[in-house]
Amino acid sequence: MENRQWKVSRGTDVLASKACALCGRSPEGGHYKFEREAESREMAGTMKALRKMQAAKGLQMDTIAVPLIGPTDVLVRVKTASICGTDLHIYGWDRWSQGRIKPPVTLGHEFCGTVERVGDEVRAVKPGDFVSAEMHVNCGHCHQCRLGEAHICQNLRIIGIDQDGAFAEFVKIPASNIWKLDAAIPEHYGAILDPLGNAVHTVLAGPIAGQTVLVTGCGPIGLMSIAVAKACGSSTVFATETNEKRRAMARKMGADVVLNPAAEDAVAKILAETNGTGVDALLEMSGNPTAIQQGFKSLRAGGRASLLGIPTENVPLDLVNDVIFKGATVQGIYGRRMYETWVQMTALLQAGRLNLEPLFGERASLDKFENAFTLLQGGLAGKILLYPNGVPR
Ligand code: NAD
Ligand code: ZN
Repeated sequence: MENRQWKVSRGTDVLASKACALCGRSPEGGHYKFEREAESREMAGTMKALRKMQAAKGLQMDTIAVPLIGPTDVLVRVKTASICGTDLHIYGWDRWSQGRIKPPVTLGHEFCGTVERVGDEVRAVKPGDFVSAEMHVNCGHCHQCRLGEAHICQNLRIIGIDQDGAFAEFVKIPASNIWKLDAAIPEHYGAILDPLGNAVHTVLAGPIAGQTVLVTGCGPIGLMSIAVAKACGSSTVFATETNEKRRAMARKMGADVVLNPAAEDAVAKILAETNGTGVDALLEMSGNPTAIQQGFKSLRAGGRASLLGIPTENVPLDLVNDVIFKGATVQGIYGRRMYETWVQMTALLQAGRLNLEPLFGERASLDKFENAFTLLQGGLAGKILLYPNGVPR
């Protein structure tokens, strides 16, 4: 039965302090209006949410009911959310989105926040805990789930894509998917654990210590992969990227050799730098057919190719020379392993092994989303953080 009782308590630190804790302005400042509006919404049981309302380009802010939670659910007050490339596709209403998204739905699958209330049967978390969540929800009973391969569940549903997500003041998550965050992990990192988990899953899908690695495509996930590979002992990280800004970011993230495949023969350079052998591991992070082909040409015989990037077309490959005669291991990578990837990612973060600061760009309150989406569409690599409950100081 749905639990219809819910009680929300806005942080007393916000209301009691003389200057607004969200913006630092005096009580006369606009943020107290923001606070009062948020309070009256809460009394009415409603919240602000950024939604796909119609089968067309764009997104809209809406006021909707705060989600009702069942006995095994958790209601989280979203502190920070982050925009993923998938959100850009949904915003632009491309062919993939048209086939997948059923409006109206609240977007947002990268987030962290504070547990507001829990269902009657939830024991592992309690109100006040700071959490993120695995947003891929598996069924628990299909063939793959039974084999411990929940990340490729046959009945996978994604919160923020197939059901209401975290671009809202509150989000409902099954307790089994909640991930408690250690205080040692910087708070804003909590908002990008979903893509960081993609990177960790890909990097650690094969040997990495002492290995030479090629990352093809330096979007946010490729950039994170560079940092993860270096943290896990990769000897040399090569990175290819056609966008100049992102090549600069790749250097900041620790890549040893950064190449522009549009302007130079990246494969020849990688082979030259590895004594003609090629790299031990290809981490494909672009989904671009040319990058994928160049990645396989740069891979050594006996190497592994871990493919995360999603091509939008069929990709011709020279299977004979680039896979079979090479004795290459080819892996598809989807999501994050539940919950091995989360354990590995947490360990790396707790140990302070990952500096992700270069990734972070603008911060904005949720209702300023248009500007954030425009900036990202322009090819800015940084992760833009959105704050449904107000931008902290
Ligand atoms: P992104 O689109 O921001 O990054 C892709 C990068 O590849 C861009 O910077 C682009 O300039 C670069 N690129 C394009 N052509 C290139 C070429 N020829 N050589 C080198 N670089 C090239 O995407 P992202 O958010 O970082 O995600 C990376 C990929 O992973 C995307 O394809 C995304 O759809 C996919 N993805 C897969 C999963 C999964 O579970 N498998 C999850 C999330 C994202
Ligand atoms: Zn399943």
